[in-house]
Formats: sequence, structure tokens, C-alpha cells
Amino acid sequence: MKVLFVAGDPKPERWTVPIKELLPEAEIHVWDANGPAVNADYAIVWQPPAELFEREKSLKAVFNLGAGIDGLLAVPNLPPHLPVVRLEDAGMSVQMAEYVLHQLLEASRGMETYREQQREGIWKIHRPIKRSDWPIGVMGLGHIGKRVARTLADLDYRVNGWARSEHDLEGVTTFAGADHLPNFLQSTRVLVNTLPLTDETRDILNYTHLSQLMPGAVVINVGRGEHLVEDDLLRAIDDHHVARASLDVFRQEPLPSDHPFWQRPEITITPHISARTLRHATLEQITGKIRAHHNGQSITGIVDTSRGY
Ligand code: NAP
Repeated sequence: MKVLFVAGDPKPERWTVPIKELLPEAEIHVWDANGPAVNADYAIVWQPPAELFEREKSLKAVFNLGAGIDGLLAVPNLPPHLPVVRLEDAGMSVQMAEYVLHQLLEASRGMETYREQQREGIWKIHRPIKRSDWPIGVMGLGHIGKRVARTLADLDYRVNGWARSEHDLEGVTTFAGADHLPNFLQSTRVLVNTLPLTDETRDILNYTHLSQLMPGAVVINVGRGEHLVEDDLLRAIDDHHVARASLDVFRQEPLPSDHPFWQRPEITITPHISARTLRHATLEQITGKIRAHHNGQSITGIVDTSRGY
């Protein structure tokens, strides 16, 4: 069995050494833009070049080094029937739950006020929060959204969840499909986006939707930058309808230095770190699936390319 590693890491051995340890029966190759075809059976990729699929004609499946496969599905020449396998959690959902909780508490516990008071040497106690004032709405109830929703529900926040299909999640009021998006938004103050980027979800965080949130809304975007219409967020903040936003993903990354978001005190910016890829957990999952697939067993995480996730 031949496995081809295709990611722009200048030190590919950081990946290929553990891949070989986890999958000793495989021959491991690193993509060489100028090299010949290696006739790989499987490719492990992150944002691969289009030439990969022109050159490697024996691929039985391609494994993405991330949960979001919008970048991979956009690669021209991706053969329509080649199974595309996404990462399933692999240690990301717990990080995402932590990140969202942190951003929520910044708002709900008024932590900025206490930091300001400390700078001035002021000891002043503000009223305790009423959890009922901070209903949360999680968009997407997949591996990541479910974990986020469950974590916040366990802390007795009121949690709504929205997905394409019906879900039954303890402690979470769920809504399904576009028809129920308005009800979901209207009962949400803290909107957390964990959706995949698809034709249906692109630009979903737009003015029409943001203005349906409860007043004093908080937007936490950990999905993809292209979910958010950036000018619409600024407009909703200027309207004082959205009070603050925590953004981990952007249309252009790195966020350009002259981008207006940098100047807005209402916006917290992090450089796409809400859930980092954990190398060992990731490779353990991928190599386990490669072995299973090679042995003719079924595997989970195969993307439905027609729906885009
Ligand atoms: P997942 O397991 O595939 O879950 C996707 C969820 O979104 C599902 O609940 C799905 O609904 C829902 N959904 C998809 N299209 C929808 C639509 N049109 N309307 C309503 N709901 C829709 O994905 P995941 O593993 O949770 O990952 C989600 C995304 O997080 C990734 O695609 C990636 O973009 C992002 N991500 C970001 C980072 C970061 O560092 N910022 C890290 C990892 C992942 P159903 O349940 O009904 O199918």
C-alpha cells in the first residue's frame, strides 16, 4: 500500500515519521511538485494542488487533515467519485468548546469591566449574571457544534441548536432547516457558528439574520470566514444591535493589517486557533481508517460531496 502526504509543511517528516510508525505496512511518499507519479493508493492532504489528481490516478480515497473540506472540494480535477474523508473531531471539539466558553464568559461575566477596574485599582462588585439573559444558539450540530452545545447546557445556560436535520440533544432546544432559522435566531442572544462552508451556508451571518438576534447580541464565529458578511457585522454593531463579536476565522487570512476589524473594540480577533489540529490524534484516526479501508472495512467521515460536507 502506498500513501502520499500532500501538505505545504516545510518539515513533512513531522508527519511522515508518525505515519510510518502508525502504518508500518505502508510505503510513505511526500508530494514532489516536479516528481513522477508514485501511483499512491491513498493521499493525506491539506489544500493540495490540482496536479495531484492529474498525476495520481490510482487513488482509492483522499484523507483531509481537517474537519472543513471546503478547500479540498474547491480543488479543480478532484475526481467526482473519489471518496473524500474528513477529520472527525480528533481532539478539536473540546478545544472549540473551551474557546466558545471563554468568549461567552468575556461577555456574560463582563470580564473587560473587571480588567478596566484593575487598571484603575478599583474594587467594585457588579450584579451576578442571570443565565436567562444569555440564551445561546449554536449553528451546526455536528462533531463540534454538539460538543459546544452540550458544554454550555451543562453550565445551565439556555441553549438552542440549529442544523439541517432534526436532532435530539439533552438540554438543548433544537431547530431544523431554513424554515426554522428565524425562530432559532429570535430566541438567541449569543450566536455561535460551527457550520461547514457550503453553497447553502456561505454569507449566512448577514444583516438580515444578525438583526433577528436578541438585542445586545454576541456573535462567535469559529466556522469559516466566508460565513460572515463583514460589512453587515459592522453595520449591526453600529446599530448597537450586536454588542460584540469574537472572530477566529476571516475571509482573508491572515487578516490584512488595514482591515477595519482591528480597530473595533467590540471585536475580538484570534488567528484561526479556536481548535488546532492535534498531530497525533489526527494521524491515529487517519491511519486507522486507511488500514480499515485497505482491508475492505467500512469507514466513517466520508463526505457527501453533493451537499458539501
Ligand atoms: P460536521 O460534523 O459535518 O457538522 C456539520 C453540522 O452543520 C451538522 O450538524 C449539519 O447538519 C450542519 N449543517 C450543514 N449544512 C447546514 C445547513 N445548510 N443548514 C443547517 N445546518 C447545516 O462538522 P464539524 O466537524 O462539526 O465541523 C464544522 C465546521 O467547523 C468545519 O466544516 C470547519 O469549517 C469548522 N472548523 C473550524 C476550525 C477552526 O479552527 N476555526 C476547526 C475545525 C473545524 P446535520 O446534522 O443536519 O447534517
